[in-house]
Amino acid sequence: MHCPVKEMEPVERMMSGFEQFKKEVFDKKPDFFGQLAEGQSPKFMVFACADSRVCPSVVLNFQPGEAFTVRNIASMVPPYDPTKYAGVGAAIEYAVLHLKVDSIVVIGHSRCGGIKGLMSIKDDGTTSTDFIESWVKIGLVAREKVKAQHATLPFQDQCTQCEKEAVNVSLQNLLTYPFVKEGLEKKTLRLFGGHYDFVKGSFETWEP
Ligand SMILES: [Zn+2]
Repeated sequence: MHCPVKEMEPVERMMSGFEQFKKEVFDKKPDFFGQLAEGQSPKFMVFACADSRVCPSVVLNFQPGEAFTVRNIASMVPPYDPTKYAGVGAAIEYAVLHLKVDSIVVIGHSRCGGIKGLMSIKDDGTTSTDFIESWVKIGLVAREKVKAQHATLPFQDQCTQCEKEAVNVSLQNLLTYPFVKEGLEKKTLRLFGGHYDFVKGSFETWEP
């Protein structure tokens, strides 16, 4: 398929994309962007996969200032651990305590390579990557649950199940952050799971 975007040099591609955004969005809403320049107060914190097909601003039409977003392999939230997972912890702490978001949403997606990787880790636990397997192992409980409950399903269907179960593991892990737990108890914060299926073209959400 002919794809002119791919033929551009990287800088050319970025500048043309920005010029389009500036002309069609930025310059048309000076008040909106002027207000955003003063500060952000997003209602959502979103965890999404780094996969290039699942940008939540595109899929859910989030506008600038609306969603404080963390994207990583398989959209995983690790358990509270200031030494091992400071990057994710800092983002959650900032979103909850400073931005005071109303909702944290963890979004899985169809055909997720990270989840496929998790489901493909050898049963003896040996790994062949420097980072990837050790990261996706955050969802190990999801993998074990799917392997136990859906052993007869074809591998791809097991992966689909795991895409959703891994979201549930992340939602559980969010409870290990004291400020998240407190927000839930005070009812200033809500948690949601989500799954975007780009094969069927569907999006579902649920509450833990
Ligand atoms: Zn993914």
